[in-house]
Amino acid sequence: MKKKHFVVIGLGRFGGSVTKTLLSLGFEVMGIDQDERRVSEFASILPHVFQADSTDDSVMRKLGVKNMDHAIVAIGGDLQASILTTLILKDIGLKHITAKATSDYHQRVLEGVGADHIVHPERDTGIRVAHRITSQNMVEYLELSPEHSLVEIIAPQRLNGKSLVQSNIRAKFGCNVMAIRRANNELVVSPHANDMIYTGDLLVIIGNNRDINRFEKFIGE
Ligand code: ATP
Repeated sequence: MKKKHFVVIGLGRFGGSVTKTLLSLGFEVMGIDQDERRVSEFASILPHVFQADSTDDSVMRKLGVKNMDHAIVAIGGDLQASILTTLILKDIGLKHITAKATSDYHQRVLEGVGADHIVHPERDTGIRVAHRITSQNMVEYLELSPEHSLVEIIAPQRLNGKSLVQSNIRAKFGCNVMAIRRANNELVVSPHANDMIYTGDLLVIIGNNRDINRFEKFIGE
């Protein structure tokens, strides 16, 4: 299968982290930043990294951005540059564009100019951190939609030795346990009604936010 090629525009903290992770996963990455220091910082790990203004349509075409499978617009601070870059990428014909938004208004404009996927790293991290520090048992929180989330919750003593059906998690709280990670790292995917829960297991749960909150309160009592 052909290796996927990514172009990351903006090599700040977010774009830099996306770049390094894509490289570690074995993908080809081209980097673009208008700041010379950022470009030299990445030159040792990126064979294709260019100092360029991504709002210059002709430069973007010359760099061969068109041949990339997926573009990540990792510019947050300069709204105009983020929006214009996304528009140019769409115009060039990029099939997949992921863009970073810094507000809901920014998101709406990015959608309007053709971004396929919008991420809010600062907002999402803020939400996750707030959930983690206010809940003794929640170790991960991922918003799936405004109403639904996926959470990882440490099974408390009161559920120890109960089967899933005995725990009443679905019947009483309407939450679905998608997987159980045991203390020895064994992962039980799509557990059955009679699979057991032990204190310290990590329960991967999907549900309505209201239901998850109720379940969280119950195990925190
Ligand atoms: P982060 O939080 O990811 O560090 P930031 O929001 O603090 O980002 P930004 O202003 O979003 O900083 O810039 C991220 C990177 O994008 C910077 O390295 C910046 O030089 C680069 N950048 C900004 N505008 C352009 C542009 N028009 N062309 C190319 N690179 C740009």
